[in-house]
Amino acid sequence: MKRREIIKWAAVTPAVGAIIGSLVPFQSVFAAPDVKLGPKRNLIKELGLRTFINAAGTYTTMTASLMNEEVMEAIDDSSREFIMLNEVQDKVGEKIAQMVHSEAAMVTAGAFSALTLGMAGILTGTDQEKIKQLPHRLDEAGIKSEVIIQKAHFDGYEHALSNTGISLVPVETANDVDRAVNQKSASMHFLNCNTLEGKIKHEEWLQLAKKHNLPATIDIAADVPPVSNLWKFNDMGFSFVALSGGKAICGPQSAGVLMGKKNIVAAARLNDSPNGRTIGRGMKVNKEEMLGMYAALDSYLKRDHDKEWKMWEDRVAAIKGAVTKVKGVEVTVTVPPIANHSPKMNIKWDREQTKIVRSELGDRLRQGNPSIEVIAWGDDENSIDLTVFMLKPGQEKIVGKRIFKELSKASS
Ligand SMILES: *Cc1c(COP(=O)(O)O)cnc(C)c1O
Repeated sequence: MKRREIIKWAAVTPAVGAIIGSLVPFQSVFAAPDVKLGPKRNLIKELGLRTFINAAGTYTTMTASLMNEEVMEAIDDSSREFIMLNEVQDKVGEKIAQMVHSEAAMVTAGAFSALTLGMAGILTGTDQEKIKQLPHRLDEAGIKSEVIIQKAHFDGYEHALSNTGISLVPVETANDVDRAVNQKSASMHFLNCNTLEGKIKHEEWLQLAKKHNLPATIDIAADVPPVSNLWKFNDMGFSFVALSGGKAICGPQSAGVLMGKKNIVAAARLNDSPNGRTIGRGMKVNKEEMLGMYAALDSYLKRDHDKEWKMWEDRVAAIKGAVTKVKGVEVTVTVPPIANHSPKMNIKWDREQTKIVRSELGDRLRQGNPSIEVIAWGDDENSIDLTVFMLKPGQEKIVGKRIFKELSKASS
């Protein structure tokens, strides 16, 4: 059949068209079925890109996490159709809100953009003049311009809030909060992963916010698992919660979720793409990431989390078994209490017996085949750190063997 005929045929025979669509790659939907496709391209090989076993963790520079089949299917399927962008955001937001016990939700370009957009929503409400104003001269435009945050909660990501034009007002105690509140105060922000470092914990932070009639907001970007953190902070009463999609949830790396009060999410959407003249126009998220993010959350909620934890422990045991065969090597396993909550291994060697330093071992693992990334930056010269939650099944054996080999080589 000629290409034109195929189009006609598929158009009057929708079911057949759909079957063809699902059987052959997208580019060839309208190519005659007897046309031979060339060999599948491998761009990673073609461009000579280094792939590696990720025993470090969900680091953005390492491309963080891998998407599972459900996510890829959502992306792939939706890439073949046009849908109105706002309709996708409406529906996906509604579904996600149900999952996480919030009034409303939206998919953003990561947790960072969720923080900026949520903050913008608080500042502007639905006022179009204020939306156009951000991030400049807030005071002149009658926009509140200060956000209260604990000193111990500065980690760099608060820059997402400053991007709207607000200034951050550091506090340490409840008295500091009382003194800091004034006419310009817009909200009170909390960084969940630094809960232990700050003097004021969630409940008190929320009480203070209530007392001063300010919204309390929270960054929980990397704080799933446990899965219950998806709804915990909405249940507690935070006005908005920012979550990263591309960390342990394994959604699209360029996606995240803003969840919270209806009016804030609605206002955040007015500050976002596809609306021009907004602070969020450059934080574009297309339908594929929105649906991919939804699929990732859906799949994450349905996962057997106990079984997954057991699998991580088995991986730790396999690596520990391999590397402790080197004399003087000791392994300590800890679990970060809040963010990146999964087993973390510290592999320590005796410098008298094993003549290698942290960064050197990191380089050798990186330069080997297959290449392996571990946590080899930081101070302790006689050890490396690694995590196992981003490994593919079976890779723990390769990691254990390779570290054993390198440490053995360096041992006298
Ligand atoms: C990773 C992270 C972010 C940013 O998340 P993205 O999804 O990459 O935008 C923000 N805050 C904290 C605490 C994080 O760990």
